[in-house]
Amino acid sequence: MKLNHLKLKWKIFLILAIFALVVVALLWVFQIVFLDDFYRTVRTSRVRDITDTITANIDDSQIDVFIGTLAYREDVTIIVVDKNENIRYQVFASRSVLAHLTDESISAYYRYAYENDGSYYEFTKKNLLDTSIPHDDQEQGGSTETLIYSKIVRNANDEELCLILESETTPMAPTMRMSMALLIMISISVLLMAGATAFVLSRRVVKPIEKLTNDANAMTDGEFDIEFASSGFKEIADLSTALNYASKEISTVEHLRRELLSNVSHDLRTPLTLIKGYAEMMRDFQDELTSENMQVVIDETERLTYLVNDMLDLSRMQTSKTELHLTHFDIIKTLSGIVERHDAMLKPKGYSVEYEHSDESVPIYADELKITQVIYNLLSNAINYAGDDMLILVREYKKGKNVRIEIIDNGIGIDVDKIPHIWDRYYKSDKSHRRGIVGTGLGLSIVKSVMTLHLGGVYGVDSSRGNGSKFYIELPFETNKNDNKD
Ligand code: ADP
Repeated sequence: MKLNHLKLKWKIFLILAIFALVVVALLWVFQIVFLDDFYRTVRTSRVRDITDTITANIDDSQIDVFIGTLAYREDVTIIVVDKNENIRYQVFASRSVLAHLTDESISAYYRYAYENDGSYYEFTKKNLLDTSIPHDDQEQGGSTETLIYSKIVRNANDEELCLILESETTPMAPTMRMSMALLIMISISVLLMAGATAFVLSRRVVKPIEKLTNDANAMTDGEFDIEFASSGFKEIADLSTALNYASKEISTVEHLRRELLSNVSHDLRTPLTLIKGYAEMMRDFQDELTSENMQVVIDETERLTYLVNDMLDLSRMQTSKTELHLTHFDIIKTLSGIVERHDAMLKPKGYSVEYEHSDESVPIYADELKITQVIYNLLSNAINYAGDDMLILVREYKKGKNVRIEIIDNGIGIDVDKIPHIWDRYYKSDKSHRRGIVGTGLGLSIVKSVMTLHLGGVYGVDSSRGNGSKFYIELPFETNKNDNKD
């Protein structure tokens, strides 16, 4: 299994385990490799500090007591030698190297300091210096290292003195044992804490995600009434909100899809049955070959054409969603073309389409084909739902920086509570399939898509039940004709 496909729970465990192991490994490396160096640095600097403290108190009448206390507390050897190489004070540490040297050998460190600008230090392996010194090498697992430091100072009487200090710079066995024990405890604690953290994290993060995944899987199997729980972190709450929204949308679309399927099959079957029936009748009975019967066949074919075209338009809109072919054109001219065509076609059926518009031309920058389609859809709705007067008004006028086009009918109007839904795909407020009305519920959703794609595009309707409908769109018109390049 690839690492990427590991379950999140195991991934969290793995990352934290690696992290804990790295921390523990680092601690051990520091303990084993750097501890000696670190200890030596600390001790060396401590010896210097002690030297400074003694220097500051060198004229104190109780200096011998002071030195004694310091040496005992810090476990260092402190020796004060005067100019004549006489030893004034000396206190030895527990395992002192200097304690085994002669006074002359000790005084030699005075000279070394002298020859080295006033101070001198050396690191000595204890067992190399004098094999007779008792030490616990077996316990240490090797020789211990000692720092000997000498420094020339002056007291208040301007008398020259030399401070010689000695300190072990290798950690002692008990210290080592303690730090090892501490290290083992820290290592175990880090590993336990990593485990506990991984456990808590996986419960708090992974559990809700697993639950969401199970719910989402159930949703793909067609269960849409699932409520995704928004527990845990904000991200998970956001995700479940998004999933809840998606499931609601999918369930709506699914519902509409089923409805459309039944509507479309109904809508297709009715004209097809009529066409077949009339055609067979005219084939079998010569008397029935009348122009009225032929007209029924033509009308029904037209209904089919509308239906198929609407469906094609929407699927085209969905596939080329963001593509607009913008050109500069005169909306007045485009509108009058559309109105004329409709008027001529509908006049024989008793409809009349009127057109009110501005006097001059109104140039706009838009997708002419798509805007034409919008007007067609609005007009065909107005015709479908026209009132008894069979009158449709197309009105164009300037409103601020926009040109506004209204398509008005005096028909049945729309219930106010249904108005927000008529722009939805497949929505049909009147489900009773009024005779003569071919509807797919797609016309207005095409209007919405096109107008939303256009920058500054506005669409809407003023209507109420029984009072006709005024559908409108608005687009910004071009003020400077010199801008026209197309
Ligand atoms: P349809 O193909 O059903 O007309 P539309 O998307 O064009 O689909 O319209 C959606 C619904 O809006 C219609 O089913 C109808 O109920 C309502 N509607 C649209 N235009 C009008 C109108 N001019 N008068 C009354 N109702 C309308």
